[in-house]
Amino acid sequence: MLTLTNDLVAIGQTATDKADAIAQAVDLLTAAGKIDPRYGASMMGREQVANTFLGNGIAIPHGLPKDRDLIHDTAIAVVQIPAGVDWGSGDRARLVVAIAARSDEHLAVLTNLTDVLGDDAVADKLATTTDVAEIVARLTGQAPANDTATAPATDLGDSFTVTIAGPHGLHARPATALVSLAKGYDADIRLRHGDKVGNAKSLISLLRLGADQGAEVTVSAEGPQAPEALDALRAAFAQGLEDEQDSVDDAPAGPAPVAAALDWEGKTLPGISSSPGYALAPVFQFLREDVSFATDADDPSTEQARLDAALQTAWRQLEALYEDVWKKSGPAKAQIFRAHQEFLGDPEMIEAAAALISQGRSAGFAWNTAVSERADMLSGMPDATLAARAADLRDVGLRVLKQLGEVTGGARLPDQPCILVADDLTPSDTAQLDKALVKGLCTASGGPTSHTSIIARALDIPAVVGAGPAVLDLANGTAALLDGTGGGLVLDPTAADTRHAEAAMNDLVAQRETEARDRFKPAITTDGARVEVVANISDVAEATAAIDAGGEGVGLLRTEFLFVNRDHAPTEDEQVAIYSAMLDAMNGLPIIIRTLDVGGDKEIPYLRMPVEENPFLGTRGIRFCLTHEAIFRTQLRAIFRASARGPVRIMFPMVAMTDELDDALRIAEEVRAEVGAEHAEMGIMIEVPSAVMMAPELARRVDFFSIGTNDLTQYALAMDRMHPTLARKADGLHPAVLRLIDQTVKAAARAGIWVGACGGVAGDPLGARILAGLGLVELSVSIPSIPSVKAELRATSMEDNRALAGRALGCADAAAVRALA
Ligand code: PEP
Ligand code: MG
Repeated sequence: MLTLTNDLVAIGQTATDKADAIAQAVDLLTAAGKIDPRYGASMMGREQVANTFLGNGIAIPHGLPKDRDLIHDTAIAVVQIPAGVDWGSGDRARLVVAIAARSDEHLAVLTNLTDVLGDDAVADKLATTTDVAEIVARLTGQAPANDTATAPATDLGDSFTVTIAGPHGLHARPATALVSLAKGYDADIRLRHGDKVGNAKSLISLLRLGADQGAEVTVSAEGPQAPEALDALRAAFAQGLEDEQDSVDDAPAGPAPVAAALDWEGKTLPGISSSPGYALAPVFQFLREDVSFATDADDPSTEQARLDAALQTAWRQLEALYEDVWKKSGPAKAQIFRAHQEFLGDPEMIEAAAALISQGRSAGFAWNTAVSERADMLSGMPDATLAARAADLRDVGLRVLKQLGEVTGGARLPDQPCILVADDLTPSDTAQLDKALVKGLCTASGGPTSHTSIIARALDIPAVVGAGPAVLDLANGTAALLDGTGGGLVLDPTAADTRHAEAAMNDLVAQRETEARDRFKPAITTDGARVEVVANISDVAEATAAIDAGGEGVGLLRTEFLFVNRDHAPTEDEQVAIYSAMLDAMNGLPIIIRTLDVGGDKEIPYLRMPVEENPFLGTRGIRFCLTHEAIFRTQLRAIFRASARGPVRIMFPMVAMTDELDDALRIAEEVRAEVGAEHAEMGIMIEVPSAVMMAPELARRVDFFSIGTNDLTQYALAMDRMHPTLARKADGLHPAVLRLIDQTVKAAARAGIWVGACGGVAGDPLGARILAGLGLVELSVSIPSIPSVKAELRATSMEDNRALAGRALGCADAAAVRALA
């Protein structure tokens, strides 16, 4: 075993730069007779090809393999630089552990470093201690890794203490919100719960605190922006870090009655109700793939590059899933995949994997070890909500691992209607399920707060979780009845069970059926006013689905979704084909095609969008198109070419000023003339307060307005629509937003143009009535909301809706408006 002697440790040093720090370590090793001083150049050579910064203030410079002959005797030297030295890419090293290794005796030191890496307090202690023996003991494994006696949990310079209020404690959602806030500040930020300390920029580290409801947590910070960071975190805690709306939505489906309490005749395996409803179908066992990988690898820099590439691929996959779920189920459900991206970028985990790679482990082994250790730790937590996050971490881990090893087995998905049975389903598994075939979900483990449950509810699939391992032994094809309401899987249901379940299913869908049955009836109020109810769509399949759901056209085609998940923009011909297919599906009903709306939170890598300090106030929407005219003209050419197939209206997003609109209209007219197309109705989204103020001037230039309540709300209330703590307050029914809409409608009426809406508020039953009462004649909503919005409008009179809107305009806040319901 390698010994580290005191003469190879220099404490309390300063260094002007990385080269100076490495030179000091080389001097120590040379003086001790361990290396030829030319090995220093080899260490610098390594820094040219790979950054040896491990994380938590620790760097491990080491030479290139070809220079091993310059090493006389394997050794390490430590230079402690309490003030730190720049190690490139914004990292500062405070403990420089220089390695001169002929063979692998130094691996034990690296293993000990891995422990230090995962523990902020210990890393801090080693970077500041004045006791050489302490460094020697820690790096040679003589001090236990988690010995809090030698590494007391300390706070940084400034701090405040807070009591965790949320019912689930500091679980994944608030912790993700904290991490994303903390990352915005140039400061070291810590949370301490008792003697456990976590890095506020690491999700895993925060979850590991195990801070449940009522826990006292000290938040401390140090660094240039420490005061601002503490203020922001204090405010975030005060506002309650959770998205209330979503918490309600995602709450477990009440207490978990066991199936034994139900009146089923067939043998019943009891579980926990996680998504209500019933399903009658044969069982199908879901098998996840296995991944195998080598333990060791020759070249750490190659392995590190493989891991980096795999992390990037996984990040892109999660982005695509986020967009997909966002489209289908809205931002709150999609947020799961944002949390997964947060796991991917977790500095603690990445550093732990990097440390193993530098010890000669393969990327797959290193990543798997780093993930498994942390997932095991999370699953052992007493709080069930936190323990459930282990499944998320493993899900993310597998996603990356599949890029690094050989995949065998392959996930099996059903090809006929079934009740899908699995040990547990990850969010990634659940997101790829075909709802037409998966009639119900039953998992052996998992709980009502697991993401299986959340996604099952979002997809409206009945689900039972925690049904025990016996369900995994069921043969494929076993006849079964899933009772998602009571919580159980009934095997070989009797004829009476089947009748009972069918009756319950009928009751459950009765209301939806009534709405669905009447979905093609126009939304004419009881006093004879008509409101057009149309759909928000983003692809051809949705165009068909919109018509099936009773949509009277498309009020918003978000064309940016044609540009995502690819590595170049769709060509003119590709776009013509897509728009034409949509128009064919509409069978003569109109489509409002919104031109490309990117920027803000909608990023498309190959468009090389500028990195902006504040992208929501930057080059987004029409501004992006006006600065990327070729993309804009191509899209307009495609729209005008397709317009021969059916009625098309063109709409520009994010218009804030008349000159933007004039430029966009001029370009559109030039393109129309080139293509030789008929005139199309031209309109704009009203989603910026300046557009409301300029509505009289804008209205003179176009044929219609469509209110984008999502953006109008965020700009009017100055609240980021995706903000972790403010988004829930950014309610489109706030009177400030309603008064802006009222002003817009009046300006439009004076100019003789019509106004619709396509933001989320239009699909809210109360919102639909208020918007109709304010004078909007078209509401564009998500496809599932079409039948219910139509039914709501048919059941009311326009006179009542106008009175309701009048009262809403007079309210002082959004809560008062909602209370009018
Ligand atoms: C809106 O802002 O309300 C809107 C419909 O546009 P998007 O949600 O696509 O920004
Ligand atoms: Mg918008």
